[in-house]
Amino acid sequence: MVSAQDETEPINVAIIGGGIGGLALSIGLQQYSHISVRIFEAAPQFFEIGAGVFFGANAIRAMSLINPAIGEAYARISTTAGWESKEDTYFDFILGQDLNGQPAGTPVSSPQLGPHERHSTAHRAHFIDELAQLVPEEIAEFGKRLVGLTRDESRGRTLMKFADGVTYEADAVIGCDGIRSVCRDFVLGKGNPLAQPVYTGKYAYRGLIPMDKAIAAIGEEKARNRYMFLGKKGHALIFPIAGGKIMNVVAFGTSKDGKWEGNWIKPMKREDMEQDFRDFGDDCQKIFSLMENTDHWGIFDLSQDIPTFTSEPLRLLLLGDSAHACAPHQGAGAGQALEDAHILSHVLGGCRSKDDLLPAFAAYESVRRPRTRFVQHYGRRQGELLDLHWPGVGDDLGRLRQVIDGPIRDIWNCDLEAELAKAQTRMKELLAEADAAKTPVSVEH
Ligand SMILES: Cc1cc2nc3c(=O)[nH]c(=O)nc-3n(C[C@H](O)[C@H](O)[C@H](O)COP(=O)(O)OP(=O)(O)OC[C@H]3O[C@@H](n4cnc5c(N)ncnc54)[C@H](O)[C@@H]3O)c2cc1C
Repeated sequence: MVSAQDETEPINVAIIGGGIGGLALSIGLQQYSHISVRIFEAAPQFFEIGAGVFFGANAIRAMSLINPAIGEAYARISTTAGWESKEDTYFDFILGQDLNGQPAGTPVSSPQLGPHERHSTAHRAHFIDELAQLVPEEIAEFGKRLVGLTRDESRGRTLMKFADGVTYEADAVIGCDGIRSVCRDFVLGKGNPLAQPVYTGKYAYRGLIPMDKAIAAIGEEKARNRYMFLGKKGHALIFPIAGGKIMNVVAFGTSKDGKWEGNWIKPMKREDMEQDFRDFGDDCQKIFSLMENTDHWGIFDLSQDIPTFTSEPLRLLLLGDSAHACAPHQGAGAGQALEDAHILSHVLGGCRSKDDLLPAFAAYESVRRPRTRFVQHYGRRQGELLDLHWPGVGDDLGRLRQVIDGPIRDIWNCDLEAELAKAQTRMKELLAEADAAKTPVSVEH
């Protein structure tokens, strides 16, 4: 347990939402003895969908920087490429359909990873179970859907109201409640267009295949490693999870009219998928026919122009998808929630009293907003690139090869310790300014 400073006052922090971001933050804050945490989760338990998740090198480093216990937990359940010879290959990008006289299956690019760029994948449910085990039972409240927030300034407390009528209070509230965040409405104002998720024009069919069936269908090399099948207005990716026992599949398509109607997650209709990918080759057809646990997801993100993650009057701050949800084409959203948790847990840990909360929030924002805007911007672009649709690149595979792994390397190679140092320096400056403002100025006559 880290003791932040010699003289600290107890601070209690409420976390709304126990997804990857909220759980990681709580595990980071546990290391600071003067900070007490409570997590309020709308669901009856911590939960993640049965699908795979990709973590870049930055995300994996963030885990251990938040708390070494997260890094150790992830190491227990993560999966690398099945073949040692492929461990340093980002993805094998190949044509999913015949294109410009070249048949489906033609290799396009196999970017190689540097020594600090290795990444891995996991079954989401396995990762959330590992995180949940690091959270003491007594700090978690389930079935608590936040509906209201007010501030009692006289007592310096933020009051939370939940859908079941129960209320709680805390010194500060961190909104980790995902892309459809209620907390964001309290930061930006309900009805603010910037608070609304934006449909990206893409959707995803997701599913899993037992590895033995996948190998029988498409062979061991593709099934056990990371492959991306490129096509016009659609692409599909596969990677192994669960120690190589399961193959994860995501196939992205593009809406004809740019619209998404109804629920964000729907049961998948096989005939829709067959129609969307009718031009794709044999390997993809076999993969699609074997998918189990299938869902059909509309892909939404948030505006990069959200002006702030903070409501100062409510002592409320956003983290993860509630602040900066991005399109998933770089496999980076959960990694950004982990980076947030790294910076925020340590700047909050540096608070000596409740008076330091706002400088800590501002310090967090000063490094997290530029970084997450970058990831959001390139998340959308990557979707268009992989669908052979980005202006100036299109289906020119030579040009595509040059840019396919460009900005992603900037995401992986971020120096997260330097980012924390920047945030801590900013916090010191703000605290010094606040202290100076409190010190009576002696006037010389
Ligand atoms: C198709 C697809 C593929 C993806 N693939 C990847 C990938 O490979 N790699 C990657 O890094 N990212 C990926 N992402 C993004 C990633 O899933 C998210 O960025 C990440 O899950 C966000 O975590 P979070 O904790 O911020 O939010 P969430 O995981 O959404 O968690 C929010 C939590 O808050 C709870 N909650 C919501 N409202 C309330 C309320 N009012 N009161 C209390 N609790 C509430 C919810 O029940 C939930 O538990 C993908 C996303 C999609 C859509």
